[in-house]
Amino acid sequence: MSRRFTGKRLVVATHNAGKFAEIAAMFAPYPVELVSAGQLGLAEPEETETSFLGNARIKARAAVAATGLPVLADDSGIEVEALGGAPGIRTADWAMVPGGRDFGRAMARTWEELEKVGAPFPRRARFRCVLVLAWPDGHEEHFEGRLDGQCVWPVRGKEGHGYDPMFQPDGIELTLAEMTPERKNEISHRADAFRKLIAACFA
Ligand code: IMP
Repeated sequence: MSRRFTGKRLVVATHNAGKFAEIAAMFAPYPVELVSAGQLGLAEPEETETSFLGNARIKARAAVAATGLPVLADDSGIEVEALGGAPGIRTADWAMVPGGRDFGRAMARTWEELEKVGAPFPRRARFRCVLVLAWPDGHEEHFEGRLDGQCVWPVRGKEGHGYDPMFQPDGIELTLAEMTPERKNEISHRADAFRKLIAACFA
């Protein structure tokens, strides 16, 4: 049996405004007050684990320790088949440039690596998302979601965040950055994990 969430306030352990907006939109029907780690000015812990689950736990536990409140953490990324699952848990790192993150650069690097290995088309990839809900007494629940599709080039679209402009989900002609945020929030890896979280802890 999963533990139900009965509190009012929930910290979302992210400094990524795009992720926070998506999570806030998904929680809109539920009476929960959300605040992000970024808004609270919490330090960003180092993600030293080797899995999405491990890194989501690091973020969740750091924010619980800093606030004493229940926390929802998201760790996610894109796994490209022909690159052996890279960038995977390193997805955000591929965007690191002096002074911040540049996802145009990260997407270009991903395509360059695909060219280097002569990857066949379609260049299959999947987004994965692990959500960890952690309480101050140490109890944790976790949920995983995924979205399968392919990498495309040149990038297309201006919506969304991160690698959205280079990812076209299966069965859809648009990239994630060409669809409305509402549509993305129906089909995304985050929405998939979120549905499981809601069914287990909030419904
Ligand atoms: P994290 O903050 O360590 O989880 O970094 C995950 C990275 O994966 C983000 O910075 C994004 O670049 C990428 N990512 C995760 N979810 C999405 C998504 O929905 N669209 C595009 N990129 C995403």
